[in-house]
Amino acid sequence: MATDTEPKDFADIHPDRVTALNEKDIDQDGKYVLYWMQHSQRTEWNHALEYAVRMANSLDQGLVVGFGLMQDYPDGNERHFRFMLEGLLEVQEALLDRNIKFVLRFGDPAEVCLALGKDASLIVCDRGYLRFHREWRKKVAESAAVKVIRVESDLVVPVEVASDKQEYAARTIRKQLMEQYQEYLERPAHRSAQKSSKSFSIDKLNFTSVDALLDQMNIDRSVAPVEDFTGGTGEAKKRFRKFLKEELSDYDDYRSNPVEQRVSRMSPYLHFGQISPAYLLSELLDKRATDDRKSYLEELLVRRELTHNFVFYNDNYDNYNCLPDWARESLEKHADDDREKVYTRDELEAADTSDPYWNAAMRQIKQGGYLHNHMRMYWGKQIIRFTNTPRYAYQTALYLNNKYFIDGRDANSFANVAWLFGLHDQGWKERPVYGKVRIMTPGGLERKTDPEAFVDRVAE
Ligand SMILES: Cc1cc2nc3c(=O)[nH]c(=O)nc-3n(C[C@H](O)[C@H](O)[C@H](O)COP(=O)(O)OP(=O)(O)OC[C@H]3O[C@@H](n4cnc5c(N)ncnc54)[C@H](O)[C@@H]3O)c2cc1C
Repeated sequence: MATDTEPKDFADIHPDRVTALNEKDIDQDGKYVLYWMQHSQRTEWNHALEYAVRMANSLDQGLVVGFGLMQDYPDGNERHFRFMLEGLLEVQEALLDRNIKFVLRFGDPAEVCLALGKDASLIVCDRGYLRFHREWRKKVAESAAVKVIRVESDLVVPVEVASDKQEYAARTIRKQLMEQYQEYLERPAHRSAQKSSKSFSIDKLNFTSVDALLDQMNIDRSVAPVEDFTGGTGEAKKRFRKFLKEELSDYDDYRSNPVEQRVSRMSPYLHFGQISPAYLLSELLDKRATDDRKSYLEELLVRRELTHNFVFYNDNYDNYNCLPDWARESLEKHADDDREKVYTRDELEAADTSDPYWNAAMRQIKQGGYLHNHMRMYWGKQIIRFTNTPRYAYQTALYLNNKYFIDGRDANSFANVAWLFGLHDQGWKERPVYGKVRIMTPGGLERKTDPEAFVDRVAE
């Protein structure tokens, strides 16, 4: 909803993206407008940033962008932090080019925002979907002395516009999304801040190198960074352009082929808000309409936005109780069924099972932080038969997913792990262990793909 305080030149920021989170006033005597960056970690196609620039210009104030770097971020480790900081260094440089100071501080994001917000006339924030993201924004809105405006920028269609309830499956949300998305592909024009904040004296971390900052941080270093992915919007755009030019034309045929891997690998960049989904869709729609384009649209728009619908409307999104009743009942009925062999979590993490395909997938996740969708499905489904109860399987799948994937800890992570156990799916023929939940078998994998070739590609 639009607010009564905004300047008139907002035609390129859809009013549905903008929500006032409190009823406080703008403090005309504030020293600057604050954009508290959290989820949308980019300077291009960032509706929240562009909104904040325009507000600062209309108030004749400088704009400061603040970011709270939380060293104990849930399930965060060096792999995630390095990727994120690579992106933030790029953000800092791009903001300076636009006369905007970037203030990075260690601390709880909401606390950092509130501390910087003490001198602000207005706080603008972006939108996060997980429980703690929402709690941070609630706390800021309640505790700040000034108006707080949230601007959504990481979904194409804002979550409540797409649906006002938890959807059952892709088929129940597809029509709304397909009818609405064109309306939300507006590109927010870039403006520079008319009044520079670069010389403002504000305490901040000295952020000139990712390595130097990582060295100062007290974080979990048990998971090493990966070579295949470098963070940042520039890198994301380069990768996506290559995908559109060289790989999109085979996407529909090869999407389920883990050996060819003709996929975009945009998920880590989307997770850290380093690339905008609306930008990706706009670039995609510039291409000739084909089955490949249609198929990519289905993944990026329908499947991804369905997962955000799930975490937004289901309070149990991160635990077993989120599952549909039919799935839980059926899994519980088969909880005591004999398993061929049960493994401990350590054995699974060591990629030490009797299934060479599964072991290769697990090694790839640990080494590369990324796995092709079809192998993720196979990998996750086997955890159900490899563990002693469905509840434990669920916790183990989520634990491994969020620890090792660079795109882990995302709405996509929670919804897709839950999918392994029946979410957004239907009941199938009843079988041991899985009950009515869909199974995937080594034989099925062999029929559909070439898992031997996949194993050959993954180092021991
Ligand atoms: C067990 C399991 C765990 C998963 N864990 C994660 C996770 O932690 N983080 C994550 O981002 N994705 C997860 N996925 C979804 C999917 O596998 C990845 O998003 C995809 O493989 C990322 O690769 P890509 O960007 O090359 O995808 P592309 O095929 O190029 O697709 C483009 C984009 O569409 C979206 N997309 C593709 N497949 C799906 C899907 N099944 N559900 C929702 N959105 C999708 C993603 O945003 C993706 O970046 C998981 C899937 C499964 C089955």
